[in-house]
Amino acid sequence: MISEQLFSTFLYIWIALAIVIFPILLKIIVPYGRHTSSSWGPKINNRLGWILMEVPVVIVFSWFFFTGDAPKSIPVYIFYGLFMLHYANRIFVFPFKMRSQAKQMPWSIIIMAVFFNFFNGFFNGYWFGTLSPAYNLSWLYDPRFIIGLILFFVGMYINISSDNILFNLRNGDKKGYYIPYGGLFKYISSPNLFGEIIEWTGWALMSWCLPSFSFAIWTMANLIPRAVDHHRWYYHRFTDYPKNRKAIFPKLL
Ligand code: NDP
Repeated sequence: MISEQLFSTFLYIWIALAIVIFPILLKIIVPYGRHTSSSWGPKINNRLGWILMEVPVVIVFSWFFFTGDAPKSIPVYIFYGLFMLHYANRIFVFPFKMRSQAKQMPWSIIIMAVFFNFFNGFFNGYWFGTLSPAYNLSWLYDPRFIIGLILFFVGMYINISSDNILFNLRNGDKKGYYIPYGGLFKYISSPNLFGEIIEWTGWALMSWCLPSFSFAIWTMANLIPRAVDHHRWYYHRFTDYPKNRKAIFPKLL
C-alpha cells in the first residue's frame, strides 16, 4: 500500500513533468498523422498504433480501481464510467473511422504514449480505488459536479463531431488533406483537440481531486502544442486558409 503522502509527492512530480514538457513540445513537432516522419525510428500501422497506445490506460485504471478497497459510491462509478466512455470511443471507434489506412506512426511515439497512459491510469485508478475520500450522493447536486458533467459532455460532443468533420473530408476515394469547414472550425483549426481539453477539464471539475486535474493539465500540455503545429501546417499548406482562425482557443490562441 502506498501512503497518501508518498502518492501526493509522486503526483506533484508528475504534474511538474507536464509543466516541463509543455515548452519542449512547443519546440518540437511530434511526428504522427499529418506530421509523420521517418526521423523517429521504426514505425507501425497507424490504426494499430492508436489501439496499442490507448489500451494501457483502460487496463491500469480498471486494475487499480477495482482492486482498491476504498468505498465506491455512485459518483465514483460515474467518474469511472465517463472515463471509460471516452476511451471506448478512442479505442473501438476512432481508429476504425480514420481514413489513413496506409499511414504509419513511429514506435517511439507509442512507447511515450504508453508511458503517459500507464501513469495517468495509475494516478487516477489508485486514487479512486484506494485513497479517495467517500463521495456521498449529495455530491451529485454540487455545482462542481453539475458544471463538470456538462463540460464533459459538451467537450466530448465537440471532440467527436470535429473528428467526424475531418473524416468526412476524405469521403469516397478522396485522399490527402483539405480545409475543414463547419462547427467550431469556423473559429479554430483544431476543435477536436479543444473539445478534448474541455472534456477532461470537466471531468476534473466534477471529480474535484488532484489526480483528475493532473490529467487535465497533461491534456493541455500535449494538445496545445499539437494544435499550434496543426495551425502552422494549415497556413503553409493552403494559401487560401481562413485568416481569422485561431489554433485552439477561439479569439485567443
Ligand atoms: P488530427 O486532427 O490531426 O487528425 C484526426 C484525423 O483526421 C486523422 O485521421 C487525420 O488523418 C484526419 N485529418 C486531419 N486533418 C485533416 C484534413 N485537413 N483533411 C483530411 N483529413 C484530415 O488529430 P490528432 O492526430 O492530433 O488527434 C486525434 C485525436 O486524438 C483527437 O480527437 C485528439 O483530441 C486525440 N488526442 C488526445 C491526446 C491526449 O493527450 N489526450 C493526444 C493526442 C491526440 P491523418 O492521420 O492522415 O493525418
